[in-house]
Amino acid sequence: MPELPDVELYRRTLDRHALHRRILRVVVSDARILSDLAEKDFAARLKSNQLERSRRHGKHLLVRLARDGWLVMHFGMTGTLCYVEPADADVPYDRVRLVFEGGSLVYVNRRMLGRVGLTDDADAFIATEGLGPDALDPAFDLATLSAALDGRREVKAVLMDQSVVAGIGNLYADEILFQARLHPRAPGRSVGKAKRRSLHEKIKTVLQTAIDCGAGAEQFVERLPKGWLLPQRHEGGTCPRGHGQLATIKAAGRTSYYCPRCQPEPA
Ligand SMILES: [Zn+2]
Repeated sequence: MPELPDVELYRRTLDRHALHRRILRVVVSDARILSDLAEKDFAARLKSNQLERSRRHGKHLLVRLARDGWLVMHFGMTGTLCYVEPADADVPYDRVRLVFEGGSLVYVNRRMLGRVGLTDDADAFIATEGLGPDALDPAFDLATLSAALDGRREVKAVLMDQSVVAGIGNLYADEILFQARLHPRAPGRSVGKAKRRSLHEKIKTVLQTAIDCGAGAEQFVERLPKGWLLPQRHEGGTCPRGHGQLATIKAAGRTSYYCPRCQPEPA
């Protein structure tokens, strides 16, 4: 499932190949991805337009159009964005394609849980979606995290709540909690001051390191620093610190991998 680091990589793909180029054609292969937006309106707004600059907010990718608003993409569980040459190259689960001279930017999604749309104002869109600050933005500071931990919820649920902090999903929440040595179901308020600081720092470093290692791309896992949980996040996986098999538990409604020794259950 694409999380902040994956979407950041899609953003860079878009920047590298698709900015400041005339969109010759718009091909919508499955209009359900546009939800209530009419296909002809979507195509009309983009045709002959250009992508001017991109902005990521959590798991959303927003792209300023040279005229008339923003293109918005969310990738759901299985979405991705790629650039292909030639422009008509076949891509499985192609849903929306922006065709340029010699190549196409393709929004791909096997399941239809993501969304492609338009908005007039990126900041208003973010507010309407109820998104908190992007996890890597300085606006997501220790005080913001701390205030959210003071509620009634478990720490993993706080990390995955997009209205608290935008960008963290199941996989990176597990990595962050492992590195901060916190049990996924620890009550937020039980997390002490020093641990809060460490958790906040791990949120930033885990996501940034994943981006730097090329999140989701080939050989991503091999490039990760030693001691990460992520490569072991499967059945039979073991603690990178040598404590034997990882355990799983449901937290925030999702299967969580953790090490019972590194991340003991709160008393
Ligand atoms: Zn361990």
